[in-house]
Parts: sequence; C-alpha cells; structure tokens
Amino acid sequence: MGRKFTVIDEGFVCAFCGAEIKRLGYTSRDHCNVCLLSLHADDAPGDRESGCGGVLRPIGLELNKKGRQIVYKCEKCGLVKKNIAANDDNEDLIIELSVQKSRPENRSEKISRRRTVG
Ligand SMILES: [Zn+2]
Ligand SMILES: [Zn+2]
Repeated sequence: MGRKFTVIDEGFVCAFCGAEIKRLGYTSRDHCNVCLLSLHADDAPGDRESGCGGVLRPIGLELNKKGRQIVYKCEKCGLVKKNIAANDDNEDLIIELSVQKSRPENRSEKISRRRTVG
C-alpha cells in the first residue's frame, strides 16, 4: 500500500479545495498553499509509509530556525507533526494560526453562555 506515490515536488490538484498547486522548486510541497491542509501519508518526511490517509489539519504555527512551521494534527490518528510553511502559503491562514496558538483549545465547548435572567 502507498507505493503509488512518487515524487512530491510536483504540481498537483488539492484534494480538499481543488486548487491547482504549482511545484515549489526549492523544496518538496507537502501541503496545499491555499487551504493549508495535508494528508497523513508520511511517518518520516517523504517516506509515504504511514498508510493512515487521515486529514492533517493545521492547529498552530511555530517559529524556529527553520523558519515558520505549521503544526498539524491528524484527524484520524491524532498524530501531531510539523511542516515548514512555503513562501507562497496563504498568509491569512498563517496569521490566523499564529493567533490561535495562544488560545486554550478545549475551553470553548465547556463554556456555555450564561445569562442571568430577571
Ligand atoms: Zn487546498
Ligand atoms: Zn494519521
């Protein structure tokens, strides 16, 4: 399973938003630069050995010496991994992610609107 994947530094059509993604040139493209979604296909970068196939959803942004890294969480298996943000990634979404990072995650479900009536 998974052998059909070949080189990743190629243009492709995003399975999530349908955008036509051009090849990057300087590194492997591992996520859509429009919606930033990715597929959990790798265990180690580029190995395509995972077999999970879940959706990697961006949950945060990290800054380090490699540059900006998008933190992903797999919706299927819960794995958290990081991908380096590309030069042409959707800047609006990147900014949203950097803001989200400082917010507590699970709070929103518990806090229901309380209103004192009367
Ligand atoms: Zn996309
Ligand atoms: Zn997974």
